[in-house]
Amino acid sequence: MKKFIPFFKPNIEKEEIEEVIDTLNSGWLTTGEKTKTFENHFNTFLENKNNCIAVSSATAGLHLAVVSLGIGLGDEVIVPNHTFTSSAEIVRYTGAEVKLVDVCEDNLNIDPKLIESSINEKTKAIIVVHFGGLACQMDEINKIAKKNNLFVIEDAAHALPTTYKKTIIGNLDTHATIFSFYANKTITTGEGGMVVTKNKSLAKRMKVLRIHGIDSDVFDRYITEKPKWFYQVVDAGFKYNLSDIASSIGIHQMKKVHTFQKRRQEIAEFYLKELSDLNVNLPQKAGNGDIHSWHLFILRLNNKDEAVRNKFIEDMFKLNIGCSVHYIPLNQHLYWKNRYNLNSTQFPVSDKIYKQIVSLPIYYDLTDNEVEYISNSIKKLLS
Ligand SMILES: *Cc1c(COP(=O)(O)O)cnc(C)c1O
Repeated sequence: MKKFIPFFKPNIEKEEIEEVIDTLNSGWLTTGEKTKTFENHFNTFLENKNNCIAVSSATAGLHLAVVSLGIGLGDEVIVPNHTFTSSAEIVRYTGAEVKLVDVCEDNLNIDPKLIESSINEKTKAIIVVHFGGLACQMDEINKIAKKNNLFVIEDAAHALPTTYKKTIIGNLDTHATIFSFYANKTITTGEGGMVVTKNKSLAKRMKVLRIHGIDSDVFDRYITEKPKWFYQVVDAGFKYNLSDIASSIGIHQMKKVHTFQKRRQEIAEFYLKELSDLNVNLPQKAGNGDIHSWHLFILRLNNKDEAVRNKFIEDMFKLNIGCSVHYIPLNQHLYWKNRYNLNSTQFPVSDKIYKQIVSLPIYYDLTDNEVEYISNSIKKLLS
């Protein structure tokens, strides 16, 4: 292939571009009507069962969720070891500590069997990550959480659209779910996120904290004659609102959530079929008619030595194919290793798997030719 195939490319069409131009011409660039429309579209997608709060990133949304649930100094939160640092860092913002837990070898989702032994009197919440777009074992996790009186927060940065036992992620019985619209996620606003909760008072608190702790209801309640300049700060909030420029992109990306997923599903099925004879581990499919978002397609080579995987990625690059690794486990990062004195015997699954994983290109704009070329290149390199 003459042209380089990037690991990811967002699909941005005329509609997104025209909406952004319309916003730029409107004179209103920050959070306003377009963001409200985006939130409404998102809520429609979730069958109008939720409160949807647009934020500047999923990281901001995750932080709003833990703060608004009252998590802070002296508390502990359970987080999977095999994730992006964002899932865990937001716990540290509050002063609370992170308890990392190993994942299942089959799908890299948090291992429910390891959660219970990580719970102590300080534990307040479990953050789960629907890794790569395949839902975690939520019945088991919710049961453990209920029994131990813990909050459950879903990091759904990979999970749009994903279902668990036919329920769309965002509508499960948990405290908050957070989606990401970062540039390489399943839909994008460049940077952005959405916090979703069924709990009205939690939603209210997150809305206030999203914008400097300014409470517009206090304004409505106490001021009958409403001067436009008046507002009240009721908390030390954050600057986590999403601009109407970003929301303009989101409004049109939302319409394509399922179209994008269908294409990724097609590509995933092609890879699964074409690579099935190789000496590799292929990713798990969703069972029982559920939707896997296929945000990531992770191939596992059968090596024990990391150098083999690294060379594979270099060889793919030489063939003009961009690959990636999701993720370097948290216990292998200096900050987390030093903070909690972690060693590589504590997370046998993520440490073993880290040496073998390669993420392949999987996105709407990949052509059939490119997908075939990628799969043929892998066959050539591995046989
Ligand atoms: C991308 C990602 C995030 C952070 O998303 P942002 O919108 O960039 O803040 C959090 N968790 C996981 C698992 C991610 O992949």
